[in-house]
Amino acid sequence: METLKIAIQKSGRLNEKSVELLKKCGLNFDNYKSSLMTTASNFPLEILFLRDDDIPEYVQDGIADLGIVGENVIDETEVSVTYLQRLGFGKCTLKIAVPADSKATILQDLEGKSIATSYPVILQKFLDKNKVNADIRTISGSVEIAPGLGLSDAICDIVSTGSTLKSNGLIPFADVAKSEAILIGMNGIAKNPIVIELLQRIQSVLKAQETKYVVLNTDRKNLDEILALLPGVKSPTVVPLAEENWVAVHTVIPEADFWNKINKLKAIGAQGILVMPIEKIIL
Ligand code: ATP
Ligand code: ZN
Repeated sequence: METLKIAIQKSGRLNEKSVELLKKCGLNFDNYKSSLMTTASNFPLEILFLRDDDIPEYVQDGIADLGIVGENVIDETEVSVTYLQRLGFGKCTLKIAVPADSKATILQDLEGKSIATSYPVILQKFLDKNKVNADIRTISGSVEIAPGLGLSDAICDIVSTGSTLKSNGLIPFADVAKSEAILIGMNGIAKNPIVIELLQRIQSVLKAQETKYVVLNTDRKNLDEILALLPGVKSPTVVPLAEENWVAVHTVIPEADFWNKINKLKAIGAQGILVMPIEKIIL
């Protein structure tokens, strides 16, 4: 039987979440940190553990059929691959930052200045689009110390909380690009039945992460008002309780308006509210 290969990061910020996602999809495999490759025992997939920088090219060239990698790395390597699914983790922003005492206020103030980065391709495109000529200094790590060492006037690097910038006396100046982990595939692979099956499983896991299962009790007299707040997957389940005129309502609500809805439900008179995570939603 045909087996596909998926490349994920060996160690680093995307490793744990990538492994977790595949396990939530029901794949059984060993996650030996020391090995380069492992095979799922219950799904036709081999998992390759690689440096994230190598993943886009491996997928483009078909050495791996699929890969999980940050959008920033895909854009920087300028490969031709197919985006199969945004995965919602590894979120970060590529930002230009300047020393706190910098006089630059608008992007055009960087004209003629030097910017240190590990993302020269993305940065050059951004500067070109904004018609700014700056001197890009490519360095491979610890970009945030460059201005302090007198290597550059500004930096362009990945930021999530901004605490690394702050501790190096830098302030965010401009957003260049947003990024998150993406499932990519070799061009043409999207029609492969194994990919279709894996993608369905991933989407049901992602869908479940966005929602909560809620059970609550209410007096029947408040039921219409409560149901008006709860759309449910199709429609909520209403079950009579032993106590006369009381019912239990079971439904699914989006994580995004969770607190808002829970507080409104309590105000209407909902009691004994239980909120549970959902493992998968099969649509
Ligand atoms: P590797 O050894 O695989 O080359 P790395 O050091 O290049 O690892 P990590 O720091 O593990 O990479 O980051 C991997 C990806 O995680 C980044 O390319 C980016 O997409 C994402 N990411 C999310 N938040 C951050 C952050 N705060 N800093 C850096 N990367 C982040
Ligand atoms: Zn890397």
